[in-house]
Amino acid sequence: MEKTSGRQKVETLRKKVVRESRLVWDVLTSKDKRQVFSFSDRYKRFLDAAKTEREAVRHIVDYARSHRFVDIGKNPKGQRFYKVNKRKSVALAVLGSEPLESGLNLIVSHIDAPRLDLKQNPLYEEVDLAFLKTHYYGGIKKYQWLARPLAIHGTVVRRDGRSIDIQIGEDPADPVFTISDLLPHLAHKIQADKKVSEAFQGEKLNVLVGSLPVGNHETKERFKLAVLDHLHSAYGLIEEDLVSAELEIVPAGNARDIGWDCGLIGAYGQDDRVCAYASLEAVADIGKPKRTAVALFMDKEEIGSDGSTGAKSRFLEDFVADLFEATGRVADNRSLRAALMHSKALSADVNCALDPDYQEVHEKRNAAKIGYGVCITKFTGSRGKYGSSDANAEYLGLVRRLLNDNGVVWQTGELGKVDEGGGGTIAKFLAVYGMEVLDCGTPILSMHSPFEIASKADVYMTYKAYRAFFQSP
Ligand code: MN
Ligand code: MN
Repeated sequence: MEKTSGRQKVETLRKKVVRESRLVWDVLTSKDKRQVFSFSDRYKRFLDAAKTEREAVRHIVDYARSHRFVDIGKNPKGQRFYKVNKRKSVALAVLGSEPLESGLNLIVSHIDAPRLDLKQNPLYEEVDLAFLKTHYYGGIKKYQWLARPLAIHGTVVRRDGRSIDIQIGEDPADPVFTISDLLPHLAHKIQADKKVSEAFQGEKLNVLVGSLPVGNHETKERFKLAVLDHLHSAYGLIEEDLVSAELEIVPAGNARDIGWDCGLIGAYGQDDRVCAYASLEAVADIGKPKRTAVALFMDKEEIGSDGSTGAKSRFLEDFVADLFEATGRVADNRSLRAALMHSKALSADVNCALDPDYQEVHEKRNAAKIGYGVCITKFTGSRGKYGSSDANAEYLGLVRRLLNDNGVVWQTGELGKVDEGGGGTIAKFLAVYGMEVLDCGTPILSMHSPFEIASKADVYMTYKAYRAFFQSP
């Protein structure tokens, strides 16, 4: 008798004080599960439609328009606005009932992803094949880009000033492109015996684009000429047009379900389009919030957020000034700063999930796990939290209560062991305004690879977290 009650006491104590992590699938009702899968289907369509930052902006603007958002530059009347910055970053807002000076609820994601950009003089021929030279963008493992089907997406500004959008390699009827790799028989010295960082060189990431010549054997550079002939007849391009171009080489093909049970999504660019899409649906879903809700979709995160479309630009300030004017106010410096200073932000970016094959790089008690919900990350950076904005305990307390009160399954995550490596997000570029910022996003396996993996359950919890955040007082 006494033994049982002793055991009960311990169990009661455990339930009361111990934090148990929860697998999302254990918590969901069958109705919830249907929502998880339908949300994921919409998200996969976004991934297919938005492989570059420009495509993402187009898709986000279409979505915003069909959900009653209007261009704030053209029609500053109403409650729901969007603003595009140079076709590569975009902001959406739903005006709240409180004045802007009391602060915004802000969710900031990024819509660029690691890839191979074309150089400005890309086209050449070698051993009777035509190639495009590339310069990689963001952190890639170079070998992952070899011997696989690739597509070209991007924009060329022609000599006449006209912009031409190109997308080739996605339609099943399209050709694809590829980077050849060395056969294993001859790779011993030049690849296999070297460190991986030395075995694969950026200068060898050359994309194979043609093999049929024009003219005859006396024609100079006839394989290169054949490609130029094609570009001219298909798009009206001449070689010099490639100087004023942003052509991005990305993995060809659509997002796919992974596993017999279809519980995971595999796709290029989920860092960070998963958070972008979750915040897009979340901001479009809210009615009239108390605090003004802003979803910001930035470019250039993968190369340090520099540039006029990155998070270090003043686009947010500009947009908030527009919002003041839309409410009939002048955005004087003091009010603008107050609005930003009193804002609460989520830096909506992915974190790495505990890798089953490389658990040694993680500290398991503080690593995010696939299937355990949206991940909050107090600090990023490297070594002694260097380069991190390190969120305040008070703000973590607030976000944690919010997630708990709204039935969001969440976990915490740290990017690897203390001295293992590290990385950063845009959080610190928001923190300069004095606002509260916390990293909050989906855990990802195979991050920065051409086929990143996310759990549908975590994707859905990310959306639920963002929706609760936008609606919070
Ligand atoms: Mn990211
Ligand atoms: Mn990244």
